[in-house]
Amino acid sequence: MGIIRPLDEHLANQIAAGEVVERPASVLKELIENAVDAGSSRIDITTEEGGLTLVRVADDGAGIQPDDLMTAFQRHATSKIYSAKDLFQIATLGFRGEALPSIAAVAKVRCASAPDGRGLARFVEIEGGSVKGEGETNASQGTEMIVRELFYNTPARLKYMKTIQTELGHLSDVVYRQALARPDIAITFRHNGTVLLRTAGTGDLRQVVAAIYGTAAAKAMVDVKAEHPDYSLTGLTALPVETRANRNAVTVLVNGRYVRSQAVVQPLLQAYHTLLPVHRYPLSVLHLRMHPTLVDVNVHPAKLEVRFSKENELRSFIEQAVKEALATQAYIPSATSVRTNAKSPFWVQDQIRFQVKPPDVSTDTAVASDSSGIAEVKPVYAPQAAGSRSFEKHAVGANTPSGPAASQDFSRSTSADKVPESVWQAAFAAPAETPASRPEFPELSWIGQLHGTYLVTQNETGMYLIDQHAAHERIHYEYYYDKFGRPQEASQELLLPVTLGFAPDEYTLLRERLPIFESAGVYLEDFGGNTFIVRAVPHWFPEGDEADIAREIADWVLTERKIDLHALREKAAILCSCKASIKANQALSREAAERLLSRLGQCRQPYTCPHGRPIVISFSTYELEKMFKRVM
Ligand code: ADP
Ligand code: MG
Repeated sequence: MGIIRPLDEHLANQIAAGEVVERPASVLKELIENAVDAGSSRIDITTEEGGLTLVRVADDGAGIQPDDLMTAFQRHATSKIYSAKDLFQIATLGFRGEALPSIAAVAKVRCASAPDGRGLARFVEIEGGSVKGEGETNASQGTEMIVRELFYNTPARLKYMKTIQTELGHLSDVVYRQALARPDIAITFRHNGTVLLRTAGTGDLRQVVAAIYGTAAAKAMVDVKAEHPDYSLTGLTALPVETRANRNAVTVLVNGRYVRSQAVVQPLLQAYHTLLPVHRYPLSVLHLRMHPTLVDVNVHPAKLEVRFSKENELRSFIEQAVKEALATQAYIPSATSVRTNAKSPFWVQDQIRFQVKPPDVSTDTAVASDSSGIAEVKPVYAPQAAGSRSFEKHAVGANTPSGPAASQDFSRSTSADKVPESVWQAAFAAPAETPASRPEFPELSWIGQLHGTYLVTQNETGMYLIDQHAAHERIHYEYYYDKFGRPQEASQELLLPVTLGFAPDEYTLLRERLPIFESAGVYLEDFGGNTFIVRAVPHWFPEGDEADIAREIADWVLTERKIDLHALREKAAILCSCKASIKANQALSREAAERLLSRLGQCRQPYTCPHGRPIVISFSTYELEKMFKRVM
């Protein structure tokens, strides 16, 4: 006699619950997804004790028809897909019809739903999979799901729950990601009576980001917006000043669904390459939209992963979009934000606007008495002959008389939290669709050199310190990057060919990868015995370092699993720029310093060195005044 029998439904649900309901946050995720799928415009979430005693989700969505209420709690019962064809174009967050029966198998659930807005609702109560009651009740349009005492009948599971704080962390994560996915839904999230998040539902992503990560973070993000025949990408991504130590800072959304996707995160990071220090991640919310047939969402039990068709195309689309978004903004950290690690970045836009219309003040009118009697020093913009600009310091006790009032205020309000809202608005106004050319680098005049390492410079808004080595590296990096993009430019034979020796496995791998070198203009010749001869390198390689660079490129080529030309070009450019750049502790003449400044100003991205370290740090006049307690 056979021993194989189908499981009864109750047991099957409990088994499914093991997969679907890992912890309170998984319950919350499923309930919120149902509310979203029901077209809700408002979702109220109440939780207690990390969600272990209570998870309640109330929405104003379509509701469940009275006849469907029981069915909704049956295994594999769904209103979202009816055929196999539907499975390949899923436009809803849920589709498996597993959540409600699984949750009801391991908790005490009450569901009340009013689908017709006339105040009449039906409810059902289910505990551990058994129906305990049902009937009529009063409710406003929508559905209310109450899940109490999760895992009350599965003590083994309950035992594995972490602290309330840990569970709350998971709950918050679920709510935050959903709020970021749908800024058009008003979401309120309470835990033990405290409101932890409230979004307005206005559709403004930046507002939601501000509610979750704080206003300073929201202000330090730029709009991402790009279109492609198959995809659209929208969102916000942080300037390199707003970084985090872990990947959670990145929220990837695909057709309204939060997912973990290397196919999106990698190109995002690639776009920041040379802008971010190692092991830092940008705060980022990227929402990718595409026809549902182009993405398979049925690949992960918690629906947290997806599979894209045309993934390579997608990757380059994302990288390009983020690069363009970043190129619309300048970022110079201010001395105070660097020192205190405060979140406020200092925006160069403010100065540029100021620079365009310098206040009409000259030194001879600069001395005036301050009505308040408080002495003040400000650099005064003094236009000289034919457009050349310079600065005059003037005596302590002098005050700048009224230039255009707005400009004066502007120059003094460069500390981020002092910047008027209108200025932030303006800073973000650059349309992301058109890859705007980057904002102008401030025009800086040279004051001197500090410890043979930093250039001290100024303009009308304050003082700027420039790391000369970092600046030089950036200039060289962009130069070599462009050069590597034109490998057809002649390589030149080395007068003294150098041999490079390798381990046997390395040698074999390199031999396969020789064409990669040639695409960079480096010609290696197989010399047998695990060695290669460097025959020729591009004529613009830094002189004397040719063999070193070839060796380092080889080392890199050996460690990378997959080499693409783009990455090679970047890597090689960084190697060359390090070799070619002036090091710290090197005296620079005024001419050399000014040349460096002007070439830096022409860089595509003059704010960070290729390793992501800042090149320029600003001390705004206002900050200096604050440091010296001239203003409070
Ligand atoms: P799925 O979401 O995969 O369809 P669920 O078990 O989560 O499966 O829900 C079953 C069904 O119950 C859904 O298909 C939907 O019709 C209905 N439902 C669940 N929650 C809600 C809600 N908040 N508002 C309206 N309908 C709901
Ligand atoms: Mg569902």
